[in-house]
Amino acid sequence: MTVTALSIAGSDPSGGAGIQADLKSFSANGAYGMCVITALTAQSTLGVTGVHAVPVDFVRAQLDTLLDDIAPDATKIGMLATAGLARAVGDYLPRLTGTVLDPVMVATSGDALLDEDAVDEVRRLCTVAELITPNLPETAVLLGADPATGIDELVDQARALRGLGVRRALVKGGHLDEEATDVYVDEDGPVLLRGRRIDTGNTHGTGCTLSSAIAALRPRHDGWLGAVRAAKAYLNDAIAAADALGVGHGHGPVHH
Ligand code: PLP
Repeated sequence: MTVTALSIAGSDPSGGAGIQADLKSFSANGAYGMCVITALTAQSTLGVTGVHAVPVDFVRAQLDTLLDDIAPDATKIGMLATAGLARAVGDYLPRLTGTVLDPVMVATSGDALLDEDAVDEVRRLCTVAELITPNLPETAVLLGADPATGIDELVDQARALRGLGVRRALVKGGHLDEEATDVYVDEDGPVLLRGRRIDTGNTHGTGCTLSSAIAALRPRHDGWLGAVRAAKAYLNDAIAAADALGVGHGHGPVHH
């Protein structure tokens, strides 16, 4: 079976994050990758020096042209940059299947990847996507709360996302504890997913890689939780191999 997977996201010329990471992750997880670009960034492993949003009409043109031909089996949505782009992509969400939304807001380098006035629109898209994959700070922004500082609070915030109308969420605990615990939540309640904490500074693009892996793997699993577990295992291996890759002079990419 060929799984066709679409990424609607921004470009990272250094290849570690954005559509470049998504396409690598799709391939590594057995999917045929496609992408609609929402924004160009000028970026390296040292940080982001510029963002150039693609005109809304041209993002629509990319989507209309592609979707007239191909109905993707899976879709990952990443950087949306502006409120206008978030609204436009939102118009297509009901037509897409297997939608995983990574509500990208700020790069690890601290650079903003989403306009402040676009947050309300992204919050609305979070209730339409089939799964969202926010990290701790993104979860806090979506809820209008302070970032969780412990596992119990993380579980409470994952439940609170369901209260906003989110169908399923994988809240990424990242560096919260030694076990790098994530929380998956759906209508059956929260599930703790404990990982292996890997000591490396080279984690650029981990969020992009994980959300794309989940999207690519979903059609090969019976449910979302199985795809999430398999994608997490893939990401762990990619992080474990990151130091050996050794690309760039800053916060380097993971190894697909
Ligand atoms: N650049 C683009 C285009 C992205 O989509 C993202 C994250 O989603 C990043 C950069 C940030 O990557 P990181 O925070 O892992 O460095």
